[in-house]
Amino acid sequence: MADVVIIGAGPAGIFAAQELAKRSDKLDIVIVEQGKDIVERSRSGRDMLVGWGGAGAYSDGKLTISTDVGGQLSTLLNESELLELLDEVDGIYASHESSGGLYTVEPDDVARISARAKLAGLIYVPTKVRHIGTENCYTILKNMREELRSRVKVIFNTRARDILKQGGRVTGVSLEDGTVIEARAVIAAPGRVGSSWMSGQAKQLGLETRPNPVDLGVRVELPAVVMEALTEKAYETKFIYYSRTFDDRVRTFCMNPYGEVVRETMGDILTVNGHSWARTRTENTNFAILVSADFTEPFDDPIGYGESVARLANMLGKGVIVQRLGDLHAGRRTNPSRLLRCLTQPTLHDATPGDLSYCLPYRILTDIVEMLSSLDEVAPGVNSAHTLLYGIEVKFYSNRIKLDRGLETEIEGLYVIGDGAGITRGLIQASCSGIIAARSVLRRVE
Ligand SMILES: Cc1cc2nc3c(=O)[nH]c(=O)nc-3n(C[C@H](O)[C@H](O)[C@H](O)COP(=O)(O)OP(=O)(O)OC[C@H]3O[C@@H](n4cnc5c(N)ncnc54)[C@H](O)[C@@H]3O)c2cc1C
Repeated sequence: MADVVIIGAGPAGIFAAQELAKRSDKLDIVIVEQGKDIVERSRSGRDMLVGWGGAGAYSDGKLTISTDVGGQLSTLLNESELLELLDEVDGIYASHESSGGLYTVEPDDVARISARAKLAGLIYVPTKVRHIGTENCYTILKNMREELRSRVKVIFNTRARDILKQGGRVTGVSLEDGTVIEARAVIAAPGRVGSSWMSGQAKQLGLETRPNPVDLGVRVELPAVVMEALTEKAYETKFIYYSRTFDDRVRTFCMNPYGEVVRETMGDILTVNGHSWARTRTENTNFAILVSADFTEPFDDPIGYGESVARLANMLGKGVIVQRLGDLHAGRRTNPSRLLRCLTQPTLHDATPGDLSYCLPYRILTDIVEMLSSLDEVAPGVNSAHTLLYGIEVKFYSNRIKLDRGLETEIEGLYVIGDGAGITRGLIQASCSGIIAARSVLRRVE
């Protein structure tokens, strides 16, 4: 028996546990995590996303302090409440050593970059960003584990099977080994890696959901000098583009100056992502270009669509594909000798040189090619033949579950938070969602 069971030890689950432990010394708090403790994790395979710290453990550690980026909490909280919470969470990360610096773009620079972007058909989204860096992010999450060790029980290497309810109230969680933990409140924080599981649970529990679009695209890698004028001011520069051919909203995402491209394992699917270290620099910068794909009827499964496109790329490349932009334009595959001659040397060494036009839908590829051409006007060199494209990058977001302002579902005592609730898409809002749910739980159980 426990007072509160938290499913998932990613940033959302950790911040929920921290807040509960901080505000009450009476509550019995249990976290169930399918992966390992943080010191036992490695940066490869499934371990990369699961275990203490979740996907945050090896993330780039960019905290984007904006109500418009990294989630949809602004649809539930008013702007000033959310800004206050974002600052509070930033303060918690910043209270740890080596939490990195804040990048804020000066108004003059905002005006200059916006004007250049407009001429290129782009919208520039200025943001305030803290960059922690991968190794520091890992250390901070490890410190949080130590802080909670004596206060919160964590069951590792164990998957939550089902969330249990009776009438309209949550009663606990069953684990994969058959154990049942009875609880007064359950906070589900399963992340993107648990999005299929969460969708299944929502269906089983009769929760109202609506699909979130899937984001599909490529990871772009180029010499860091190409983006330097932008990244030295803002670290991450966000641009939005409405494509000429399809009028789709296309956007840059997760920019990693001097960073590296990494493989991400989602079940049996291999996709790409990027990050950068705080203390080590590569010669390259990477960022994603993503297009949202949404469906209504008769097909309403964006996650299934994204998985199918990623599987196709995996089938052709036996994993992740990398292609020179020049080869894509010339209608030919990149082969190992062409890749060797490329001025941008890949930081992801086990990607297969290949042809992305065989696996990316025409619509998405057209959107990406158009945006690269526009970005070239803001940062000359982006559209070079030597720019590398890795595929596929996919962001699966769980179906968005109907939640109230306290992130409680229609089932009393059941809260769903973080990326797995389809309500957040990044570290800072996921962490905020943990605090919001913890405060709601405290109001209910104390
Ligand atoms: C390479 C990389 C770089 C990134 N860089 C950034 C960045 O710079 N800035 C940013 O804002 N975001 C970044 N992100 C995204 C960020 O890491 C996530 O948005 C964040 O971790 C989401 O937190 P979460 O707690 O909701 O989910 P997660 O961190 O995914 O944690 C969910 C946890 O739940 C566990 N779980 C799932 N289902 C079950 C179950 N049934 N039973 C038990 N346990 C379960 C999982 O094992 C996992 O540990 C990056 C991600 C990656 C992979």
